[in-house]
Amino acid sequence: MSAEEKKYVSIALDGPSGAGKSTLARSVAKELGFIYVDTGAIYRTVGYCVQQRGIDPKDAGAVAGLLPELDIAMRYDETGLQRMYLDGQDVTGAIRLPEVSQCASQVSAIPAVREFLMDMQRDMAKNHNVVMDGRDIGTVVLPDADVKIYLTASAEDRAKRRYLELKDRGTPEDYGVILVEMEERDYNDIHRQTAPLKRAADAVQLDTSGFSFEESRGKILQLVKERLGL
Ligand code: C5P
Repeated sequence: MSAEEKKYVSIALDGPSGAGKSTLARSVAKELGFIYVDTGAIYRTVGYCVQQRGIDPKDAGAVAGLLPELDIAMRYDETGLQRMYLDGQDVTGAIRLPEVSQCASQVSAIPAVREFLMDMQRDMAKNHNVVMDGRDIGTVVLPDADVKIYLTASAEDRAKRRYLELKDRGTPEDYGVILVEMEERDYNDIHRQTAPLKRAADAVQLDTSGFSFEESRGKILQLVKERLGL
């Protein structure tokens, strides 16, 4: 995006799964009056579609072949919650299931999928003040973001958070399974060829291991306000 095109403020929040990105990003966006964009939900919707159609998520050719007919939409409800639609159906809840996480991680390694979803993400930042979370926001999607934060926490802390989140949602999973699957997903995200998960050179790294939600939120807001001169 050129300097003349950039009218809105963007905050990029990247990091491995379970680092608390989505809850923190949503809360920070609310505080600032920005829109929260959960890019993981977009990849999850592709993963969900691939799974529903019985396509092998590692088969790059078959997944790429599906893209031209893929009908994905993202809308915000009256409470400001991002909802995902596939073929007009609301799949916001369905895309959170653990098997969809693995599928999303696999399809997200396919360059054609990343390319296909790029404009959808960039258009949000072109037209709104955003807090956008994902894996490659500060490095690839919004390299000119005004604030870049790379959020991490120990694998155990992250698995514990995901365990509690799934339990609260009424879809509990075994802690050990969550930990193994999370490490597998992180490994895939870090080692893929296209847009791997890594800290942007100009991102501030924040390790939230042992931090409460309020502490992490306070740190992020402080950093954002310093950077934006608020
Ligand atoms: O953030 P979340 O865990 O919902 O993302 C699901 C999967 O989507 C991740 O494991 C990752 O493989 C992929 N993803 C990505 N790039 C993003 C956001 C998510 O590759 N910007």
